[in-house]
Amino acid sequence: MQYTEIWNDVKQQIHKELDQEIYDSFFVDTNDVFKVSKNTIYVIAPNEFVKKRIDMLYLERLNELLNTLVEEYHRFKIISEQEAIEESKTGGYDLTSPEKSHHLKDSNLNQNYSFKSFVVGPSNRLAYTSATKVADQPGVVANPLYIFGDVGLGKTHLMQCIGNYIIENDLNQKVLYIKTDQFVEDYVKSSTKKQFSDFNNKFKDVDVLLIDDIQFLAKKEKSQEEFFKIFEVLQQNQKQIVITSDRPASELKNMMSRLTSRFEWGLSVDINAPDLDHRIQILRKKLISETANPELINEDILLYIASSFDNNVRELEGALKRVMFYCTAFDLPYTKDNAELALESIVKPKKDKLLNTNKIENVLSTVADYFHITISDMASKARTRKYVYPRQIAMYLIKTFYDLPYKKIGTYFKNRDHSTVMHSIEKITNEIQMDVDVKKDVENLTIKCGEI
Ligand code: ADP
Ligand code: MG
Repeated sequence: MQYTEIWNDVKQQIHKELDQEIYDSFFVDTNDVFKVSKNTIYVIAPNEFVKKRIDMLYLERLNELLNTLVEEYHRFKIISEQEAIEESKTGGYDLTSPEKSHHLKDSNLNQNYSFKSFVVGPSNRLAYTSATKVADQPGVVANPLYIFGDVGLGKTHLMQCIGNYIIENDLNQKVLYIKTDQFVEDYVKSSTKKQFSDFNNKFKDVDVLLIDDIQFLAKKEKSQEEFFKIFEVLQQNQKQIVITSDRPASELKNMMSRLTSRFEWGLSVDINAPDLDHRIQILRKKLISETANPELINEDILLYIASSFDNNVRELEGALKRVMFYCTAFDLPYTKDNAELALESIVKPKKDKLLNTNKIENVLSTVADYFHITISDMASKARTRKYVYPRQIAMYLIKTFYDLPYKKIGTYFKNRDHSTVMHSIEKITNEIQMDVDVKKDVENLTIKCGEI
């Protein structure tokens, strides 16, 4: 069996990295692959002790080595001989059927992304509910489904859940997941007629198209044209399209308007950063799925990690892995102090990032000083020109200097919504062209803010 060979290759690799004695105790008798399911390769360890040791100390490295050998993401799960026997008895032998794995391979989906592993909270509930509805009735409830939000908040995960769920329920459905940069690359490569027809055929008979990070189509006009055609055909045939993006369709830049307006035809949902409680739940779920011993990491540690990483789930998960790796590698107890040590080097730079907040405060105070008003008046809801104009200028400068999303800029001005911020910025952009005083103010302030 091919997977046994892969396991042997990985063993050979790790052999080079370990003391002979350690290798002999943990790996020599760990030989058999029990089954492969959902991209997980189950390997049988001779007993519970060996299983736990490999799990705690070497699994992460084994998985790294594994993923240098296979194309699609896979991972190992170590089980004891006893567990293998139990599972065979209860008939839980569930080798992924060849037909199914064939479909999955063509779809580009990663099977680990399932609705079950997605933790729902206030910041993603609407997106989650919409995704489940679309997965239940593709092409019917919301087409396209447009999911947007900042990086690392679960857009790709949720999008892939839809695809996996649809294949799970109906093997005849042809699902295709593609990253936008890959789409562009494939299109550019398809310069000959034959290649182009291959490229096009790929999309022709798709039932569900999942296209990830559509913002990368910006400025790629030919690819936009091509995507537009594909989009039209699929939508006319009631094929489901799911799109993700880092911003609302209306804020996509350098994108033809007939595309962005199509994106708004269906349903747009956003995913925001999870709150503290939600982050702790995500960590708990990760612990359960990734370790043999989730209770090792206590609430104090989870709280510390969740408080330190508040705007990106990928970083949050990375921090948890780092703590686990640090404590096992140096054989330290799982305490909050050790967790702090493990994360020291990444929490500190994050603090430096807070300087960005200081930079924004710098813009706010520079603008307020310049117009002889206070920051709080400037951020307030007051509508007199005395405050409105400086407010608009400050928004304009923040956008120009740091290119933050409108919604984020709104948070510095009493949570104004994205359209208010957008209009303010547009207004100043126009006035700069027409009014020399405005132009002068912007120039003076750009210098005062230290951005020149
Ligand atoms: P995005 O596409 O928005 O940049 P991803 O979907 O790649 O983000 O998510 C980043 C990581 O965080 C992935 O490992 C994903 O599984 C995990 N993740 C994000 N949101 C959740 C959630 N609500 N529950 C569980 N895992 C999540
Ligand atoms: Mg993504």
